[in-house]
Amino acid sequence: MAMNTITPTSGIDLLVRQGIEHFREKTDHEKDGDGSTPASPRSRRSRARNTDYSCFQRNSGEHSSTAEPRSWLLELPNELQYMIAIYLNFGDMQRLRRTCHHFHYLLNPEFIRAHFGGVLARQLVSHCRSCLERPGRHSLVLLAPRTSTSGTDGQPSSKCFQCAIQSHDLRVGTTVTLANMRSTWVCRWCGWPIGGIAGPPSWANEQFHVACYDRYYRVLWMFLCLGFVQFSVGVAAAALSLIYYRRELLVFAPAIASFALLWMCMAFLAFRGNRVRTYHWVGILELVIVGLWVPPIYAVVKGIEAGNAERSAMAALGFYGINVLFRLLNFIGNIALMYEYDMTKHYVPQLPLKRRLLNMLMAGLIYWTYPQCVEQRYPPDYN
Ligand SMILES: [Zn+2]
Ligand SMILES: [Zn+2]
Repeated sequence: MAMNTITPTSGIDLLVRQGIEHFREKTDHEKDGDGSTPASPRSRRSRARNTDYSCFQRNSGEHSSTAEPRSWLLELPNELQYMIAIYLNFGDMQRLRRTCHHFHYLLNPEFIRAHFGGVLARQLVSHCRSCLERPGRHSLVLLAPRTSTSGTDGQPSSKCFQCAIQSHDLRVGTTVTLANMRSTWVCRWCGWPIGGIAGPPSWANEQFHVACYDRYYRVLWMFLCLGFVQFSVGVAAAALSLIYYRRELLVFAPAIASFALLWMCMAFLAFRGNRVRTYHWVGILELVIVGLWVPPIYAVVKGIEAGNAERSAMAALGFYGINVLFRLLNFIGNIALMYEYDMTKHYVPQLPLKRRLLNMLMAGLIYWTYPQCVEQRYPPDYN
């Protein structure tokens, strides 16, 4: 389609007159070409009904039953399309540009720059580059200038929190600059920037939202309680081995070795710190503990099968089994931690159900194993 390079803000009256004249000529020509009689009231009603579903589209079935529906707006001359476009705000103009190739090229970067002039930079940072929403500057992340086809070359632009998260632009443990030129942290719990529509920072830790820190605090308490239960089960299993199976080397020796390794795991938990990652070492220890509990379980089961179904044997088997289950969960959790699984994926909007379930499972494993990982610093140190 031929491009019109007339600047719409100059000679407006002339342009409108030209456009209307052009449109009249075109309409008259179509009528003559059809050779049809003047439309009856019924056919006019019929046409009106056909165009009811959209002000921009008409059903061209009058001319051909197989023709594609065409747009009234596209039928207008370029001058009139420009005249309509200049009444649009920045967001609507960009939306129109995204509807088809014609408007993409008609409302080209030169036109947008000429039309918005000095306020273009302000418009760019006030709208989300992706969804074109305008949630307010406090809820937009400022992006560096980039080359684009939207008339924004070399100018900073913005993205709303939701679009920035969906396109994985944000990293936990870093700060971002908002469109209001304030700097803010990316929440360590949910991955959304702090402030604006996402809520204020927690007074206890500026790198968390208020609600997110409350959740983290609750998870920490649950972790401490479960950790106490895990430790108690480990101690009980070792104590049962010591009391009832002191003479059975297949039970006693692995139980004492796993008890010693349990303390090593506790030491890693206590002295891990924020930067040094020791998940691989703890994972290996947990796996060794799981392996060490296999011979005692085997020996106790054999004893029960041989007729030693006393309460002590059943209790020992129960504690050994629970201990192995806990250690296995810890091993899998440490693998998830080792691969730096990003739990903030959990809070990405519009995730498919499968991904949401997977994220819940992974988050559950990590909360079980070491929820303090949300406070870890970057880049990681594995030495
Ligand atoms: Zn957006
Ligand atoms: Zn948060």
